[in-house]
This record gives sequence, C-alpha cells and structure tokens, in this order.
Amino acid sequence: MSRPSRNTVAVAFAVALSGWGPALASDFDQCVEGLRQKAQAEGISRAVFDANVPTVTPDPSLLELLDRQPEFSTPIWDYMAGLVDEERVEEGKAMLATHAATLARVEDAYGVDPATVVAVWGVESNYGQVFGKRPLLTSLTTLSCMGRRQSFFRGELIETLRIVQSGDVAPDKLVGSWAGAFGHTQFMPSTYRRIAVDFDGDGRRDLVGSVPDALASTANYLKRSGWRSGQPWGFEVRLPEGFDAAGAGRKNRHPLSHWQARGIRRVDGAEVALPPGTPTALLLPAGATGPAFLVFKNFDAIYSYNAAESYALAIAHLSDRLRGKGPFVTPWPTPDPGLSRRERRELQELLLARGHDIGEVDGMIGSATRAAIKLEQARLGLPVDGRGGLRILDALRGDAPATPAPAQ
Ligand code: CA
Repeated sequence: MSRPSRNTVAVAFAVALSGWGPALASDFDQCVEGLRQKAQAEGISRAVFDANVPTVTPDPSLLELLDRQPEFSTPIWDYMAGLVDEERVEEGKAMLATHAATLARVEDAYGVDPATVVAVWGVESNYGQVFGKRPLLTSLTTLSCMGRRQSFFRGELIETLRIVQSGDVAPDKLVGSWAGAFGHTQFMPSTYRRIAVDFDGDGRRDLVGSVPDALASTANYLKRSGWRSGQPWGFEVRLPEGFDAAGAGRKNRHPLSHWQARGIRRVDGAEVALPPGTPTALLLPAGATGPAFLVFKNFDAIYSYNAAESYALAIAHLSDRLRGKGPFVTPWPTPDPGLSRRERRELQELLLARGHDIGEVDGMIGSATRAAIKLEQARLGLPVDGRGGLRILDALRGDAPATPAPAQ
C-alpha cells in the first residue's frame, strides 16, 4: 500500500547505473548465459528464451523495492478503510450481478461462493482495474541477476517463460507488480503454473484477458488451501467485561465451545450454526478494545493467498459487505479513523488548494502527501504524524485556504 515516490526511484536508478557501469553489463551478460542453460534444462526453447531474456535492459530501480523498509507502517484502520470502502462494495455488487452466471458455475466446480471470489478479486486488482505496470520479463530477469533473492526469482522467470511458450498470455500482456504478480488474481508465475485454470474453454489459461479464467483460478486457489464449502470465514464478536485476551491469535485454535464458554458472543446476537468442536481462533487485530473476531478454517484459506492477517480480514470483511452486511459494530480504537479512497482524494484536493505540490489526486497517501499533511497538522496545531486520517480531513474541510483556489 505504501509506495516510494517516483523521485526516490529515479535517484536510486541514477546512483545504481553510475556506480555499476561496465561491470554491471558484463556480470549481467554472464548471468543471462547461466539463465539460458537453466531455461533449456527446464524445457524452455532457445527461441522463446532468446526472444525474451537477452533483449531485457536490466532495471536496477527494482533493487530498492526489493530491499525497502516500510517508511511508514500503516495502522490497520487505515488499511481497512482504503480496501473496504463504499466504492469497492458498490463495484463488487455490480460485479456479482454482471458475472452471476460465471460465478454460479465457479461455485459448482470449486465450492467457493461468489461473494468470497469477488472479494479476493476486488482486493487483488480492484476488479481488474489495477494490474501493475511493470513488464514481468524485465523485473524477473533483473531480479534473477541482481539482489538478494536471485534463486527465487529465477524460478519465477522460468515459469514466466513457460507461460509465454504455452501461448496462454502474450509477453506484452505480462505486466504486474515489481515482484512479478500479474493479472486479475495477482498470481506469481509459479502459482499460475500450479493453480490457474482454463474456465472459458478457449484452451488457454489466461489470467489477464479472461474474467472466467481468473475467477475460477481464484476459487481453485482457495479450494486447494482447504476451503470448506458453506462455512463462514468467521464473524465479529463481543468480548465479555474483563476478558483476558492472552489466548488470542490466529494460530491459537480451540473448539468453538471453548470460546463460547468464556462468554464470547456474536455482535448481532445470532447463534453460531457450527458444531461445538469446530476449530476456532480469536482474532484481535487492534487489541482487546478494538473489533474482535472468531475465525475458522476458511479464514486461513484466505490468509494463505497473501500471508497477512490484515489482508485476509479485508477480503473476509469485503465478502460480508457484498452479502449485504454492514461495517464492523465495534469501532477501531483510535480518535482519528481511517479514510476511504474517496475521502483520500478529497484530502488531496484540499492540500492542492492550499498550494502543496503533491502531484496528481490519486487517493494514495504517498510520501509527498504525507509531507504536506505534516505541514498542515503543524499549522493547525494538531499532532504531527503525517497520517491521512479523518482528523486532518475534518480540520481542512472547516478551514478556508489562505489564498482561495480559483473558481472552477
Ligand atoms: Ca481460457
């Protein structure tokens, strides 16, 4: 979610090039020769290799992304507010309607319900609107020859070449994240090899051009990760007064009856229609005073998609919102709640109107936006943390700019 500014990347690129010069070129050529042999041993034709790897100009800016430390750790309430907002809920409901027939067939084939499949799609690629823009062959060839995870990326490069060789996706359509996740489902190439399916029957497993292939591949991923048809991922609960939260944690599973005996109840007061022995964990993403959840096997299946609890909770919650349920009942324990993407764009408009050079309004709170927020927080006498939360948005809404913006 937090991305380095274009300037940071440009500087790193220039430094890397000036520092490595000719050595970089010869090392890279040697590396490519090694890749050629590995590719051949893995069944990639010489023609496919030569057309796609030696032609790559290495991109050292990827190394900064590989090694970056998060400059700003995102509180869970910011993360959730951006990923599960009204826009994503409304667009997801539209996708449920548009692709109803496909989703019904996917559920028949893999046992995963439409709301869950569409929620993964919404979080992974905003329903196919954000694939990432980096050419996989450039990223993976570079990272196969530079940086600290070359062995891993070599495997991903070989699988990318296998996709090209199969004709399933054309090389120019293979764009994605800097690390090589691509298409509607943001699968890594090795995940593609294991999991992707041809669901529209055209003979190609196409996670870039085919929504049916993508939705079915997502369901196949969850099925392979242990999805239990008809079970919920979990639900929001209320803890009794004075609850000792020491036993919380996704890996700390007990029978459902263990938690019920300790006085934990659903926030909506409903009964839990699962056997008392169902393995269950208590999730407290923001501690005992924030929203609390009992989670089951299907939460773990979602978790396996990206190995982050906040990520899994976003998908799980979005799936509930797509089923018509409301926001969490218990508020996040913060005096400064997170912003939806619409509110983030509004905040950026307000900063622009005050003359801050934060680039284009994109709803993403990057380093330039955070720097401007700090200046405004200081000016308004608020805590200066650079966070784009409701407090600074409300303050700027109620505060006319020193120089009025020109009339539209
Ligand atoms: Ca297909």
